This record gives sequence, structure tokens and C-alpha cells, in this order.
Amino acid sequence: MNSPMTRAVQIDQPGGPEQMRIVQVPVGEPGPGEVRIRHHAIGLNFIDVYQRSGLYPLPMPLRLGMEGAGVIEAVGEGVSHLRVGDRAAYASQPPGSYCDARVMPAMNVCRLPDAIAFEEGAAMMLKGLTAQYLLKHCKPVEGLQPGDFVLFHAAAGGVGLIACQWARALGLQLIGTAGSDEKCELARANGAAHVINYRTEDFAARVKAITGGKGVKVVYDSVGKDTWDASLDCLAPFGLMVTFGNASGPVPPFAPAVLAAKGSIYVTRQTLFSHITSRERTQAMADDLFAVVASGQVKIHVAQRYPLEQVQAAHRSLEARQTIGSTVLIP
Ligand code: NDP
Repeated sequence: MNSPMTRAVQIDQPGGPEQMRIVQVPVGEPGPGEVRIRHHAIGLNFIDVYQRSGLYPLPMPLRLGMEGAGVIEAVGEGVSHLRVGDRAAYASQPPGSYCDARVMPAMNVCRLPDAIAFEEGAAMMLKGLTAQYLLKHCKPVEGLQPGDFVLFHAAAGGVGLIACQWARALGLQLIGTAGSDEKCELARANGAAHVINYRTEDFAARVKAITGGKGVKVVYDSVGKDTWDASLDCLAPFGLMVTFGNASGPVPPFAPAVLAAKGSIYVTRQTLFSHITSRERTQAMADDLFAVVASGQVKIHVAQRYPLEQVQAAHRSLEARQTIGSTVLIP
């Protein structure tokens, strides 16, 4: 049987957006534990930039993309949670979602509720499951209570806008930072209790003022190099620094004694892929995400759409901080 062909975005070596080109490849048939999915929308994520640039080194040639939504076309042996014709969405390794169709491990692929559009599904799995584990599974020693202050950087971005809304639903006072006044207003409209333009304001000083000098219980920092030092100054004693990205560049090595000097604070470096290591765990987290979206408490903002062939422009825009909310590629 002839396997159908697909377009896929591939790089042959790490580098800038110009390294990405569209290749035509056979899709193949799913083996045990795999499915074939035909995408209706593909999620763009900052991790794709790290993988493309070589910050996160991966074997070459490399097909990019970690998130997508579409319809299941074929199911391999041993896959019981998906059937041909199901609407589905995923955040998954290995990369390769920038394509029309692909064969992939079924473990992290979830049935998409009918009420959630493909574009939302493609935009919410990697980002929404990340917001889920950040807010619910990365806790300071004494836990988070309604009314507690947390600081969330890049609050108007893909993960950020979901986190703002979910934090509000949980009763947290999220202080959101963003790179323009317009982005700050968007974060506020989506649930941030306080907003700070960190390009024009001293965010650590503002956080101290907002919290009456006490500091926040948790800082969620995906910006990395540019915000690291001041972020540590925002924490209350025994607070938790959750570093989960490096949009401005990686955090340089630091001496553990710094943590004592800042008030015996804790630091953790998290990745979604430590949290979704079993089918049951992935489904439980996805069900929680689907429920908060279905309730209307979290809306998925797909603010940018690009045809798959304009993937270079999509990456340029994301890296230039020109996007808000989520971006999808349309095959
Ligand atoms: P975003 O849509 O949030 O885009 C990144 C944002 O970071 C920009 O819009 C920009 O917002 C801000 N930023 C600050 N400094 C820079 C800089 N020098 N260059 C570029 N952007 C900068 O992306 P995502 O929603 O896809 O991801 C958000 C972050 O979360 C990323 O760092 C990503 O890697 C991380 N992440 C980590 C995961 C994990 O499990 N570890 C999983 C998912 C995402 P502004 O202009 O407002 O500053």
C-alpha cells in the first residue's frame, strides 16, 4: 500500500528562521502504540525556537513542532483510547507537528471535546498543560491559598494569558509582567490582579510595593537571563522560584549561597515533559484543562494564524515579541 505524502517543516542544521524549509515525505502507517493524525491546526511554541536555534540540541535533520490538533486517521496495535475519526489534540515528543499529517506515539494524544475548536485545541495543549502544572503542582512549602500573590512573567504570551485566567479562577493574585502597556492591559483583562511593564518599570520594586514589602510566594519565570536576578528579589522568605524557560537567553550559573541571602528561597527548573510521562497522568491533566476551558473560566486566545508555508514569518514574529496569546499554523 502506498503511504500518503505530507508536507513537513524540517531543518538540516540549527540556526535562524531561514533554516526552516518544507519537505515532502511519506507519512507511514502507525506501529504499536502509535496513531496517524491529520492536522487541522498546529500550535507554535517558544520551545520550537530553542530547538530550531540549537539552544536545545537535537539530532539533525529535525522536523519541528510539539503541539497540534486534528482527526485520527489510523490507529496502531494496543491503542485503546483513540479511534479512527476521533477529534484529538496533543503536546508531545518527539517534535514533528509542523506538517499536514504524521505518525506519532499515542500516549500524549487526547480526544478533543466537541465544544473545543481545532485551533483552540492546537493552541492549548502544550501551553495549557504547562499552566496547569505550574499553578497546581509547583507549590511553595506551605502551599498556595486564595489571595496569595504570585508573579508571572510574559503574562500576555501563550502560556501567560492562560495562566492569568486560571490563577484568577483559583483566587490567586497574579502580578503579570509584559513588554508593552498594551500587553499589560491584555493581561489585566484576562485576570492579572496587577500588571507591570518590565521594559519601563523596575518590576522588583513594584512587586515589593504591591505586596506591602512582603514579596510573592512564587515567581514563574520563563524569560530567563534578563529577569533572573530581579525575580529572586521578588520572593518572600522560603518562596519558590519556578524557572521554566529562557526567552531572553539561558540563566547563567549561580552560587547556591545566593538562595540563603534572598531568604532561604527554593528554586526549581521544570519541564512539562516530566509531568506527562504516563497516559493516565496526561489524561488527568488534560481533563482538568478541558474542564476549565469548558467552564468559560479560561479562554484560549488564538491571536495569530499563519499558513504552514509562512512558518518563517511566524517564528520571526514570536522571537521579535510581536505576538500576544497563542499562534497557530494552518496546514
Ligand atoms: P510566548 O507567547 O509567551 O512568547 C514569549 C514571550 O516572552 C514574548 O512574547 C515576550 O513577551 C517575552 N520575552 C521576554 N524577553 C524576550 C526576548 N528577549 N525575546 C523574546 N521574547 C521575550 O511563548 P510561549 O507561550 O510559547 O512560551 C512562554 C515561555 O514558557 C517560553 O519561555 C517557553 O519556552 C516556556 N515554556 C516552558 C515550558 C516548560 O514546561 N518548561 C512549556 C511551555 C512553555 P513580552 O514582550 O511581554 O516580554
